[in-house]
Amino acid sequence: MAKIQAIRGTKDILPDEQLYWQFIDKKVANLLKYANYKEIKTPIFENSDLYDRGIGENTDIVNKEMYRFNDRSNRNITLRPEGTAGVARAFIENRMDIQNKLQKLWYNGPMFRYERPQSGRQRQFHQLGIEFIGSSDARADTEIIHLAMNIFKDLSINELQLDINSIGKAKDRNHYQAKLQEYLEQYYDDLDADSQNRLSSNPIRILDTKNKHTQKVLSDAPQISDFLSLESKKHFNCVCDYLTLLNIPYKINTQLVRGLDYYNDTAFEIKTLKSHGQDTVCGGGRYDNLIHQLGGNNTPAVGCAIGLERLLLIAKENILLHNMSIDCYVASQGTKAQEIGMIITQFLRNQLIKTELDISSSNFGKQIKQAHKKRAIVCLILGDNEVQQETITIKWMCTQEEENISIIQFRNKISYLKKKIAFSKKFNSY
Ligand code: ATP
Ligand code: MG
Repeated sequence: MAKIQAIRGTKDILPDEQLYWQFIDKKVANLLKYANYKEIKTPIFENSDLYDRGIGENTDIVNKEMYRFNDRSNRNITLRPEGTAGVARAFIENRMDIQNKLQKLWYNGPMFRYERPQSGRQRQFHQLGIEFIGSSDARADTEIIHLAMNIFKDLSINELQLDINSIGKAKDRNHYQAKLQEYLEQYYDDLDADSQNRLSSNPIRILDTKNKHTQKVLSDAPQISDFLSLESKKHFNCVCDYLTLLNIPYKINTQLVRGLDYYNDTAFEIKTLKSHGQDTVCGGGRYDNLIHQLGGNNTPAVGCAIGLERLLLIAKENILLHNMSIDCYVASQGTKAQEIGMIITQFLRNQLIKTELDISSSNFGKQIKQAHKKRAIVCLILGDNEVQQETITIKWMCTQEEENISIIQFRNKISYLKKKIAFSKKFNSY
């Protein structure tokens, strides 16, 4: 019978791969905990209206990329293409502002976009998002950018570029849009087909083009920075000053616009300089009107989303299988030694030492080979000699150094063992 295959653009995350995801989840959750961000989970599907009204009907996401369908009761449903609109809906619906005017939230989960699958671009992919809701202060924008940068830093990813721009308020943008349209119309024939289509529907998005010809035309185009209100300019300067204060290098990119309509003022992207094709690993900005647009009170907010598949493509080599290794491998030979091995294994696990017991009954050479394969930090050896002398041999896998200690002493040496394992993990694996 023909095999059923996963849907194009989706991927299984198999157990070995899952370890990387768990590692990232743990690191990120820890970092966000100390910044006092709380996790929120919203449904994977929503009413399509949410995205039409939130993201905007003339955006690529709504026009071309949404998984939209009617359910059995003929409701128009969309698999979420991004997380912010759902968070904003939940914020309004649950009256979260009553509980606390400032909400600092994060989410992590699958998103769905009908795009051409390639490395770093899937139809089901994962985003980690952080949102600071309720403040228009430039320190909130800076905090979001700082947190995103710290997430990368925490995973030892340093070769990054932060691009930042201000796209002003809707009024400034409309004014700019008209001027940009006027300018581009003169070069209509030089634009790529996609940009020609956008010229009447959403000309600002043309700035985002990857087409070299169109980019050349754009090099002399009017710039949004010349159309910003004093208030927007002030806000942008403030964000830039705070970034400098926090030693976060940035590049002002006046052509940076985002693919979603709800943004205003600050827009930013983080790119990896180790290009794997899709180099934008994080995108975000301020969205002061979204909550009002979705029926809530006027509530300013700022946030961003990191693409986890793209993050993993660059983080993997840094996560040196830190959590794939085990702490302790117990090798034993002979009936009595095997029994002691079982008891010691339980004892170590109770002490929260990740321990694997070899039950192959093969010779020590093979058992120690397994310990290496499993990246054990330490191997405990129990053979006839050890049984006779009531000792245990402790073999440190990295240095090959061996210690022989009495079983009675072993129980008292547990904190020494733990410390040495932790030290070895820190300096040999990560
Ligand atoms: P791109 O220009 O690469 O399509 P985007 O502007 O559409 O990105 P955002 O909506 O800003 O992306 O989403 C934030 C992040 O989510 C992106 O920077 C990227 O890392 C990730 N992302 C977006 N779409 C995909 C996808 N189809 N597959 C994997 N990751 C994605
Ligand atoms: Mg996209």
